[in-house]
Amino acid sequence: MFARRGVPSLPHTLLVASLSARSAGASTMSSPTKKVKTVLPTTRPHWVGDGFHVYPVFSNLAFSKHLSPFLMFDYGAPREFPPNTSSQRKGVGQHPHRGFETVTIAFQGEVEHADSIGNKGVIGPGDVQWMTAGRGIIHQEFHSEKWAKQGGMFEMCQLWVNLPAKHKMTKPRYQDITKDKIPTVHIRANPAAPGGAGDAGASATCTADDSQGSVRIIAGEYGGVKGPALTWTPVNMLIVQLNDKGKTYQLTLPEDHNVMVFARRGGFHLQEGGKKQTALAPQSIALMEMGGTQLVPAPPTSHPTVPRYLERGGGSKRGQGWPLTIMMRQTIDLGCD
Ligand code: MN
Repeated sequence: MFARRGVPSLPHTLLVASLSARSAGASTMSSPTKKVKTVLPTTRPHWVGDGFHVYPVFSNLAFSKHLSPFLMFDYGAPREFPPNTSSQRKGVGQHPHRGFETVTIAFQGEVEHADSIGNKGVIGPGDVQWMTAGRGIIHQEFHSEKWAKQGGMFEMCQLWVNLPAKHKMTKPRYQDITKDKIPTVHIRANPAAPGGAGDAGASATCTADDSQGSVRIIAGEYGGVKGPALTWTPVNMLIVQLNDKGKTYQLTLPEDHNVMVFARRGGFHLQEGGKKQTALAPQSIALMEMGGTQLVPAPPTSHPTVPRYLERGGGSKRGQGWPLTIMMRQTIDLGCD
């Protein structure tokens, strides 16, 4: 029903975040496979300025302690912008930020950043901007001038990460993390059959030639490979791409981490041991239980319902697969307010 000319299937993206509470002390009795605690519903989109049409993924849990240190998460789903021939740029003009960080990931299109400490930069597909507002910054974000002239599909997300109380007034910082600085670990699918996942062993790392998926490390680490972002709290942020539908993957995460899983594009099943699994619809986010170290996503064999906007082309290149983003944090002694 969703097949398009020359497009066998649409790529899926899953976005995962994990935070850890060491005081919980409950993980020793838990299974190694992480279980779903709750799935937040898909939200309605709204405009941020005139350039960013975003879904507020955290819904009514945004700015609550439940997702600390993450405050807010906007996902700008793929949207076509016609060439902008006017002198009016699309985006958000000068606005202030203080006491937290904004992390912008570009998937399609280009975002241009400028701020009051003189940083300026353009990020394109695969690039990341990590801005620490600290004691205060004036920020502006627009479609890049060059990209806006040609127009096309635009897709990005922005995550707000709280700063620990003792670092809230830190000096503002800007990190321009281009895709060439973000290392990739290639992985194979889990050899166990779907539905039988659990203790079958983590997805092995492999060479690019044998790759059935990949993990890009923006911050923190995966499989001993470290990402480039400097963070004020131990946040791990990974983009994982899963290429083989109908198989499971088994990702090993640090113990005592909360994990959030966001389906950026398409849907997934999250295997939870035995036959239990939870379906994750496109653009919904799963909050995982604390215990366990194995996250077992499975792109389904049959194509799940895909919102109409995803049919409009773009992003269907061969090998694009099922990307997944993981963000993790190791402690909760933040004193966030
Ligand atoms: Mn901003």
